[in-house]
Amino acid sequence: MTDLVRPFPPVNFLDQAKADLESGLDPAVELIPAPEVLSWVKRTFLKIGSPLYNPEHEHISLLVESIEEDKGFLTFAWASAPAKNKNSLVLGQCERVAFRAGGWQKARQEQQMREWFGFTPTYLITLDASFCETATDREFCALVDHELCHIGVERDEDGEMITSNVTGLPKHRLVNHDVEEFFDTVRRWGANSDTKRLANIANTAPFVPDTEVERGCGAVVIK
Ligand SMILES: [Zn+2]
Repeated sequence: MTDLVRPFPPVNFLDQAKADLESGLDPAVELIPAPEVLSWVKRTFLKIGSPLYNPEHEHISLLVESIEEDKGFLTFAWASAPAKNKNSLVLGQCERVAFRAGGWQKARQEQQMREWFGFTPTYLITLDASFCETATDREFCALVDHELCHIGVERDEDGEMITSNVTGLPKHRLVNHDVEEFFDTVRRWGANSDTKRLANIANTAPFVPDTEVERGCGAVVIK
């Protein structure tokens, strides 16, 4: 075993949700902090030379290393069931933490963050534990990498990261998906440039080989 073993939701965390489902009930969603996921993300996706290192996340790495001590830039939580969003089920969510309330409401929400993590993070990624428990390593890594992609960075015309004059740290922002489209629109009207680009990428072999996924998830002992 290595320190790269992929994080799993705690044993028993899903018991209630499973019991509810078996009784035909909609499970009441429970949430718990999952700082261990950030530790694993740092060792796999964010560290240069690590198995699943993604240079697209360089700014996250800089911010996590610089801000973690006192405040916390990013952290994770497990949810016991997917979030229902109209007609779809959401397996992961990346949010820029903001309290749309004041007074005691805000104080209560900040207190929860403090009790969970010791600080209010700038970004919080929540993962559906019921999916992650049985997902393949590849599915799990793809979900985490996807959520990290929502934390973007401002870039200049040359593609260079823009940093803050005050802190010297990258200027980050929550970003949306590269492509949002309906199958029917593409069927009827053809693909636009973004959809074509996505189709081209989807038709090439994935960049991350299975061996690296195994290494990143601790399935292979590294000597
Ligand atoms: Zn997304």
